[in-house]
Amino acid sequence: MKILDDIPVHLDVEQVLKELHLNERKEQFDVVRKLVEIANSVIQPKVIYEISYVDNKNEDRVDIGGIKFTSRVLRINLDKVGKVFPFIMTIGKELEDRMASFDNLLEQYYLDEIGNVALGLIGNYLEEHLKREYRMGQLSSMYPGMGDLQDWPIAQQEQLFSLFGNVEELIGVKLTPSMLMIPRKSESGIYFPTEVEFLSCQICSRERCKERHAPYNKELAESYRGK
Ligand code: SF4
Repeated sequence: MKILDDIPVHLDVEQVLKELHLNERKEQFDVVRKLVEIANSVIQPKVIYEISYVDNKNEDRVDIGGIKFTSRVLRINLDKVGKVFPFIMTIGKELEDRMASFDNLLEQYYLDEIGNVALGLIGNYLEEHLKREYRMGQLSSMYPGMGDLQDWPIAQQEQLFSLFGNVEELIGVKLTPSMLMIPRKSESGIYFPTEVEFLSCQICSRERCKERHAPYNKELAESYRGK
């Protein structure tokens, strides 16, 4: 098990404006710059990950690190894979604490979105770290509760967390009985090697999702369903 707690994440105002689909009008620029400065001063990125081995591949289940996971999509993606990297990452709780002190709802919203951008940067950092450290080629990731397929139940966060022991003590992330992570700006999942990049959004038909990273591919979605 490895913990990364010295992650050089630095948010850039132009990048955040782009992610928020804002232009560089002076008033917006000044507000976002102020919030980005706050975010850069308080976020405390932490990642925990494990090198785990895949076993017992069946119809819609697969064992990872000796723990049973139930997901047809995950099993198919791991058909030819022996080693994977379960992970949990967070930007820490400080940004959320700071957000609660804001009265301005728009600023709260911007700060929340800035937290998402920071989480994305931590994900990029982890992916590059894994590629470099373990000489991996292309990696893709999946997470419990992804998309609208109801293929990998969110309840399996519990199994994912059990791979690490006391995650709250290790990196400060707690799993609630309803499977939400606290701090909210945390993410968990599994990185795995792939020849062709897999993006959950490709097999998720949810409309109007502002987090969508790839168009829905009906044919691909049906191939995972076995149609
Ligand atoms: S489209 Fe949205 S809900 Fe569906 S997998 Fe992508 S980010 Fe998740």
